[in-house]
Amino acid sequence: TVTRTRILAGNWKMNHGPSQAARFFADFLPLVEPADGRSVVFFPPAVSFAAAREAVQGRPDVRLGVQNVHWEAGGAFTGELSVSMAADAGAELVLVGHSERRHVFGETIDETVRKTVAVLEGGLDPVLCVGETIDERRADRAEAVVVEQLGPVLAAVPVEHLARLVIAYEPVWAIGTGVTATPADAAAMHAAVRRTLEEVYGAGAAGQVPVLYGGSVKPENAAELMSQPGVDGVLVGGASLDPAGFAAIVRAA
Ligand code: PEP
Repeated sequence: TVTRTRILAGNWKMNHGPSQAARFFADFLPLVEPADGRSVVFFPPAVSFAAAREAVQGRPDVRLGVQNVHWEAGGAFTGELSVSMAADAGAELVLVGHSERRHVFGETIDETVRKTVAVLEGGLDPVLCVGETIDERRADRAEAVVVEQLGPVLAAVPVEHLARLVIAYEPVWAIGTGVTATPADAAAMHAAVRRTLEEVYGAGAAGQVPVLYGGSVKPENAAELMSQPGVDGVLVGGASLDPAGFAAIVRAA
């Protein structure tokens, strides 16, 4: 069996401006010691990125990413960020296809493909988020939806880039709702993601890809979710805004 690094990721969404970001890290960093086999990642808003970067200097166990990019290299795309600009700012990872991008901003599967490819070609690590809505789960389509979201992306990712891909299974009905997938449901969906990866790349190469769980992860449920087979870490929204709470989640890894 492969040992994959545990990833504890915080997606701040549209929260924590630069001064709040600095205060967050002043409180958070002393609560978390660097530990082998564990990587802590934050996705601050773009305007808070520089403050976050300055705050985490000297802490190689903490990495930073951006919440979104455009696939074009530059030009007339008001409001967007390119991969190379994110890299220049110090980003190592990029969220792609977060459920809010898909369901609030109408991001299509084709756009998630373009973004994932651009991120990989730009040398950063995409964290591709997939997950079903409550209606899709009730219609017994949870696995099918996740496979539909993954398929076109995997078809565009050559095996030599696979070591930099991260997947987050985030059921839409669990994001920001306080409702978490049961550990058994999470394990079943993670197994489906792993099978899909193995069908495309074979078991050996597929085994490198970390698969995170996201959806109302809290200090109280993080350890149990991460103890499930195939759950390599967590992507946390709301509970990543609180330094003590997120530190407790990191220490649960
Ligand atoms: C997320 O934004 O990826 C997320 C899982 O949010 P929350 O933890 O608030 O449900």
